[in-house]
Amino acid sequence: MNINANSEIIQALKTHFKGIYKIPEVINYIDEITDIYLYKYENIEIRVYYRKEKDEINIQKIHKILKRAYQITNNCKNKLFIIHLIFSPAKKEFHYKKMITARNVNSGFTYARGNDIFIFRREEYPKVIIHELLHHQELIDQSLFPSTKDKNELMNHFNINKNTILILNETIIELWALIMHLSFIATEYKLDINELFEIETKYSIYKSWQILKLQDTYKDKQWCDKCNIYAYIIFKMIIMTKIKEFFSIYSFPYNQTKIKDFIIKHSNELFDLRKREKEPVNPEFIINGQKLQRPSNSLCFMLLSDL
Ligand SMILES: [Zn+2]
Repeated sequence: MNINANSEIIQALKTHFKGIYKIPEVINYIDEITDIYLYKYENIEIRVYYRKEKDEINIQKIHKILKRAYQITNNCKNKLFIIHLIFSPAKKEFHYKKMITARNVNSGFTYARGNDIFIFRREEYPKVIIHELLHHQELIDQSLFPSTKDKNELMNHFNINKNTILILNETIIELWALIMHLSFIATEYKLDINELFEIETKYSIYKSWQILKLQDTYKDKQWCDKCNIYAYIIFKMIIMTKIKEFFSIYSFPYNQTKIKDFIIKHSNELFDLRKREKEPVNPEFIINGQKLQRPSNSLCFMLLSDL
């Protein structure tokens, strides 16, 4: 069902975009929204906010993505989820002269005790929906009990400035979002999940190399950001390259100290990658005759996350 977006709806929507999420491109887009596409599948409702004259929305794809979402919320069928999908074209991109913030990197947020999920970029939205829903899975999400000791140890080991946002829980959520997203792609397109995982590992290595090279340009080569990029890209990359070993130490719920130890233990390869002068390949993937490749300055977390 399609409805008109009145100013009351727009104002109410805007109230959620405060602090780090007060991103100019997104706020400007919200002001241009004319329509909302509503769809409900079982306990999951989606509201796609868009501009009728300027944006094209693929309804079939939205239905497919909601059915995926339903599968991953299997154990919380009594909970209603409302996904607010703001279809803005705002891109996730590197900034070379200014510090990287939520404006460059983040795509969504949710409140673990509430029902609403907000996603404010079109880019990567199929995977971001999985990521946000996983924050509601108590066996996977452990965001309520972060250990400062583990965080400080990681910051010292990787030379990360104390004012940086670093949430290890996001590494685990993003890793599971990646695995689940790839398993849907593998099933729907009849592809080998190991091959998909391998290409995503290559993509993660490429993005990590770019981040490390950027870190080299920072004062005292110390990393600093306001958007948790080490957790989303670098720690996840370390785990992806050692995925078999990782599952031998993983538990439900996970043990944060064990994950921290694992990342530090396997960080040598990262330090080798940092020394590497030659840029790793920016991988591409052909699917249904269409070539997928992210622009080199993209800060998307995955290559295949739009499928
Ligand atoms: Zn998250």
